[in-house]
Amino acid sequence: MLRALATAVLLAALTAAAPAGAADYAGPLVDAHSHLPNATAIDAYVAAMKRHKVVKVVLLGVGGVQKDDAAWLAAAARKYPDQVVIGQPVADPTTPQAAARLDAELGKSGARAVGEIHVRQVSRKIDRSPAAPGFVKVLEVAARHKTPVVIHDELDEAAAKALEKALETVPAATLVFAHAGSATPAVLDGLLARHANLVIDLSGMHFQRTPALATEKGPLDPAWKTLIEKHRDRFVVGVDVWAARLFEPAMLDRLMLWTRRVLGELSPETAERVAHRNAARLYRLE
Ligand SMILES: [Zn+2]
Repeated sequence: MLRALATAVLLAALTAAAPAGAADYAGPLVDAHSHLPNATAIDAYVAAMKRHKVVKVVLLGVGGVQKDDAAWLAAAARKYPDQVVIGQPVADPTTPQAAARLDAELGKSGARAVGEIHVRQVSRKIDRSPAAPGFVKVLEVAARHKTPVVIHDELDEAAAKALEKALETVPAATLVFAHAGSATPAVLDGLLARHANLVIDLSGMHFQRTPALATEKGPLDPAWKTLIEKHRDRFVVGVDVWAARLFEPAMLDRLMLWTRRVLGELSPETAERVAHRNAARLYRLE
């Protein structure tokens, strides 16, 4: 009871601190990209989802870093079948067995996404080509299962070329570009125009990270706003929690309130699509 009261007071304080202007987006919300750091964090996350009307979360693997990813995700989906949808982790997409293994796993796991697959991540010294033969086989398997592939790909010129080649080589595969690939709106505008099978996932672009769509209290960057409005069917949002410290209730409240505030700056039609409709279609949530 006391705890509920404390939460209510905290929420009221956070809401009162929000800048005047557009109202926060108040409709259903899907977190299209988050992770688990252990077997128990899901409890705090689902509690936060209920406080903030987040109807579904797509939980993904973190690309071979956590060996228990698949087990934690499966357990979370069993415990919270109404809230949790899972992705199929792929530790290393370049091994010769990756595609066959994914094929077998997708057949039984019921995963609605593949990933998160790390294509290029500078801090972990990962630099792979999604157009390499083994990776292309992985994309073909995902396409056959009608399951989008979420990739982490910090774009530079060479990575952009390889990504475009992969998108062209397997047009039936949908690639979901996590954290917008750390790319600029101008670069993304071109990619979206050229490749119908590319979707942008705005997860992890919050006030704790760079690039960010907005600071915690500041406005949505105008270039991002224009891009999202222009391609309103091509974006999904996500919180991208992964480290245990982000699962503190107060931090989850801040991240979810920020998400609703930023969505509230979009036109109502665009906000609805980015908040849940696009994710529902992409990950077959209905
Ligand atoms: Zn992620």
